[in-house]
Amino acid sequence: SVPAAVTSAVSAGTRRGLLVKGGAALEAIGSVRTVAFDKTGTLTAGTPTVTRVRGLEMPETEVLRLAAAVESGSSHPLAAAVVAAARAATLTVPTATDARALPGRGVSATVEGRVLSVSAPAHAATLVPLAGLDADIRALEEHGHTAVVLHDETRALGLLALRDELRDDAASAVAALRALGIGAVLLTGDNERTARAVAAPLTLDVRAGLLPEDKLRLVGELPGPVAMVGDGINDAPALARADVGIAMGGGTDVALETADAALLRPRVQGVVDLVHLSRATMGNIR
Ligand code: ADP
Ligand code: MG
Repeated sequence: SVPAAVTSAVSAGTRRGLLVKGGAALEAIGSVRTVAFDKTGTLTAGTPTVTRVRGLEMPETEVLRLAAAVESGSSHPLAAAVVAAARAATLTVPTATDARALPGRGVSATVEGRVLSVSAPAHAATLVPLAGLDADIRALEEHGHTAVVLHDETRALGLLALRDELRDDAASAVAALRALGIGAVLLTGDNERTARAVAAPLTLDVRAGLLPEDKLRLVGELPGPVAMVGDGINDAPALARADVGIAMGGGTDVALETADAALLRPRVQGVVDLVHLSRATMGNIR
């Protein structure tokens, strides 16, 4: 019977690390026309490392120490990388208070009596002058690094660059989706230059510089049905808005709860496997 075929497909999926929350979700996955991917932690490993630190009128270690203090209150993958770099340099990181995340823009906190921020360059530029850092930021971004600016309320104090690598199977999985007639789009809050450099080996459309609300809007505008694949807290609204929300393994609880399906193993190929599982099951029933 129909329910039996679906039930057995769902449990076959689970054995392979493809968690599908019910028959309706399984059916929907096979008819998806566009897959929208988050970048950090979805197409990339989500474990960036700090590749460069530059101080403006302060030593690099001071930039790292203060940036790590600001980031210690953030759950963003970039924050974890900055804190790890400070620890690796055996710096003593001061306590920050009043940490405030600005999704898609950066994070601020009070450190040693000063309000400091670590911000995306585009956001920092609306608050403090970036002259002197511009050329550096541009060159880093063109090489696929994400640059963030440490600043206070009036000036830039330094620059940090971070790099996150594509998952091993990202290119082959995106190519497999396209071979199945499914479009692929990258939706990211990271800047255009970095996103294009990182995504260069992938055959997909890049939409960069997006705030969480922009991602949400685009999910509603792409040729549907749309599947959204993401892992972060910021992605939960987009996962909910998509016809099919797919949470990537190791993601946040919020993403897992919101999603229609979850990839328990952190492999992009899991999305392709879900499409095959759905089409095979529905083909058998019809
Ligand atoms: P993504 O779409 O890659 O998941 P986000 O929307 O989470 O990206 O973040 C977009 C950009 O905002 C980052 O590339 C970074 O420049 C900045 N940003 C966000 N959170 C932080 C943070 N905690 N520390 C530094 N920069 C941040
Ligand atoms: Mg993210």
